Amino acid sequence: MEFPSQTSIFIGIIGINPGGCPIPNDPYSCPVAAGIATGSSIIMKVLQLQTEVKFVKGVGPRVSEWLAQKNICTVEDLLYYLPFRYEDRLNPRGIGELRAGEMATVIAEVRNSSMFRTRSMPVFQMVAGQGRATLRCIWFNGEYLRDRFKPGQLVALYGKVEEGWKGKGLEIKQPQFELLDGGGNGEGDFSAEDAEEIESLEVGRIVPIYETAAQQKLTPRWFRRVIYGALRSLADPIPDGLPPALVSRIGLVDRRMAFEQAHFPPAGESVVALQSSATPAHRRLIFEELFFLEVGLELKRRRMRQRAGIAFALNEKVREAIKKILPFHPTAAQKRVLKEIAEDMQQPSPMRRMLQGDVGSGKTIVALQAAVIAIENGYQVAFMAPTEILATQHYLSARRILEEAGYRVVLLTGSLDEERKRNARRHIAQGGAHLVIGTHALIQEKVEFQNLGLVIVDEQHRFGVLQRFSLMKKGAAEPDTLVMTATPIPRTLALTLYGDLDASILDELPPGRTPITTRKVSDDRAPEVWDFVKKQVAAGRQAYVVYPVIEGAPSDQPELEFMGTAPASKSGLKAAMHMYEELRKKIMPGLRVGLLHGRLDPEEKDAAMRRFKNGELDVLVSTTVIEVGVDVPNATVMVVEHAERFGLSQLHQLRGRIGRGAAKSYCILMTGGKVSPEGETRLKTMVRTQNGFEISEIDLEIRGPGEFFGTKQAGMPGFRVASLARDRKLLELAKEEAVRLVQNGDPEITAADRERVMAHLKNHWQRRYGLVEVG
Ligand code: ADP
Ligand code: MG
Repeated sequence: MEFPSQTSIFIGIIGINPGGCPIPNDPYSCPVAAGIATGSSIIMKVLQLQTEVKFVKGVGPRVSEWLAQKNICTVEDLLYYLPFRYEDRLNPRGIGELRAGEMATVIAEVRNSSMFRTRSMPVFQMVAGQGRATLRCIWFNGEYLRDRFKPGQLVALYGKVEEGWKGKGLEIKQPQFELLDGGGNGEGDFSAEDAEEIESLEVGRIVPIYETAAQQKLTPRWFRRVIYGALRSLADPIPDGLPPALVSRIGLVDRRMAFEQAHFPPAGESVVALQSSATPAHRRLIFEELFFLEVGLELKRRRMRQRAGIAFALNEKVREAIKKILPFHPTAAQKRVLKEIAEDMQQPSPMRRMLQGDVGSGKTIVALQAAVIAIENGYQVAFMAPTEILATQHYLSARRILEEAGYRVVLLTGSLDEERKRNARRHIAQGGAHLVIGTHALIQEKVEFQNLGLVIVDEQHRFGVLQRFSLMKKGAAEPDTLVMTATPIPRTLALTLYGDLDASILDELPPGRTPITTRKVSDDRAPEVWDFVKKQVAAGRQAYVVYPVIEGAPSDQPELEFMGTAPASKSGLKAAMHMYEELRKKIMPGLRVGLLHGRLDPEEKDAAMRRFKNGELDVLVSTTVIEVGVDVPNATVMVVEHAERFGLSQLHQLRGRIGRGAAKSYCILMTGGKVSPEGETRLKTMVRTQNGFEISEIDLEIRGPGEFFGTKQAGMPGFRVASLARDRKLLELAKEEAVRLVQNGDPEITAADRERVMAHLKNHWQRRYGLVEVG
């Protein structure tokens, strides 16, 4: 997928600045260095949050370069490098009380260690003990540990306790460990005076564990010491962008205390709470992060509303025109959603609306009605689809619906010959084409509209997030935008990612649909499945059979880009081309079987799709190219082979190809080979529910927000503390407060408070994210 380089009009979505640390340009940065150099054991509180990290004791220029790769440039960045877990070394577990299956921290004495070989690899073994009780630790390929442990040393171990080999005691495989009396190990430049205090960071307390950085050179212990030192030398008070009234109303702890306690939890803090980032310290940092994000989004949103758009008229004539094109009675949800859209379109500011509706909920006709409003007002409409197949399908149905009413519909896809493309462009430029349907790239890059009034983006999910508004500049006044997606976006994500869009939701399916029966079967039962397909075909229905790959080798297959799972290995995956031959020649020789995949020529794709749609094919063997939008109501069977390989939202999309007519439909998820626990969850979810929102929530949980939109180009915010999957409640609270602040709706918050919020936003956001023009 290609992304335009121009992102200045793009709102709501931020990506972390990948370029490492920027040149410091703030007043605090450098001058304090001298202060540090003169201090030895007297702690000088000279560090500011914005001080460059190289001035922190134990860092220096070389290490600061390593840290820069982790986007740690300032003291503040360092403080945001929070532990990813905590070890309870205040109440470590006795070896005698350990149970197989639990994760445990154990502090014990090294007894002996040795290397041995299994048939496949060298193994390092270390036995640790407490009195008579012993625990075996083993590391596969552990040669590097050979001289690491000395008998008598105290070691902290963390890992999953398991039943030992042949029932001999308990063991931990590959534990994480830290030698507790090994001294400095040269980690950090600390004087003897510090030693005692530093020692106490490692034992007798809840100990923070950091991710190692710089190819293992910066260990958890190193971070612990350096962060401890930084906190100790941090000048008081530290600036806090949050308004005091807000802090006290929500019951947040002081910012400095939050940093201190997130790194070095006070005695008595719950390890469970720490682990799930639910302590007051975490809560404070999470809220803060989300709050500024939401303030930024709200400002953008406001600015957007002030732009000049088109106020479309919705008079009797237009209303008549909208009704006239309807081929069926709209559902109540369709009516409601159209009303929301129409109200936006009448406003003088540009519409930014997202239309969410589950697969088959009937978004297309609503979009065409919106198009009619624009066209009746003398404007042109661009309708962008993610694939040629979908663009062509929309073109055919739009023509059927609109041409009768006298509107001119034009198709613009890459596969058209040059002559036709040129013609289409001319019609568009001269205003003769009312509705232009095409693939995204084509419309976006090469088309001049005479008078563009409305942009409709179908199946936004497939594009990634960045592209949605790039078309806005084509017209003089900014056109309205309607973004449609069948992938229901969990409310949490919608709030954040699409915080700048208003949402309309189609939550009702057109009448006469029957629920789809979904089954999960192993592919040893394939013969039964094929029999079932044959029966359905004999009853006049059609079937899809979907494969994860086109051919044996998956490397150059575009379909894989959209899969939520890792690319398939070459081994043992059934592929569309091969199975097409099998099905056609051997398994169902009497049936008319077609093949569709991303590597076919556009005309071949069109032909396959058209023949299937016209009922000239009984079975369509395909890859995920049919995932989105394809609409053939007579198809009642969706067989997915290697269903364990597909992401949840993909499976949901695929299943959305059936159940579009009145006949009962069946989705058969065949598994071939080993299914991971996650795969199992996905398949079970599919069998259990057909509710797209529920499915997307589970998807978010399984995959985490970073992957929810497929890949990194989705531009998920790079949060330091917050997690969208975990912190939904705080996100909503932050959003609420942010809106109140921006709209000046909070009497407790003073003008000075607001100024501080804006200053903080400017300092932090512009630096940290690629988010432009905040404030
Ligand atoms: P999606 O929201 O997935 O894009 P479509 O717009 O493709 O859904 O609609 C799915 C199918 O339902 C189409 O065949 C469409 O013609 C039909 N449809 C949409 N709305 C209605 C309705 N109100 N009554 C009957 N059929 C409808
Ligand atoms: Mg659609």
